[in-house]
Amino acid sequence: MTYDRLVCANCAAPVSEGRCPVCRANRERLQQENFLANLSPLALIALLTVLVAAVALLAHQAA
Ligand SMILES: [Zn+2]
Repeated sequence: MTYDRLVCANCAAPVSEGRCPVCRANRERLQQENFLANLSPLALIALLTVLVAAVALLAHQAA
């Protein structure tokens, strides 16, 4: 997702330039969303790895 071409409703400048407080707030929010979007697949993989390890450990103990 890109916000390069988003135009601010307050100052009519590109949000990515951060010319007014509205721009800066929007830019920060969008960057945070990008960060979370990039983070979540990694978090899912980490969670899956932990789950598989736990299941493997339990299966080993049961056998
Ligand atoms: Zn603005």
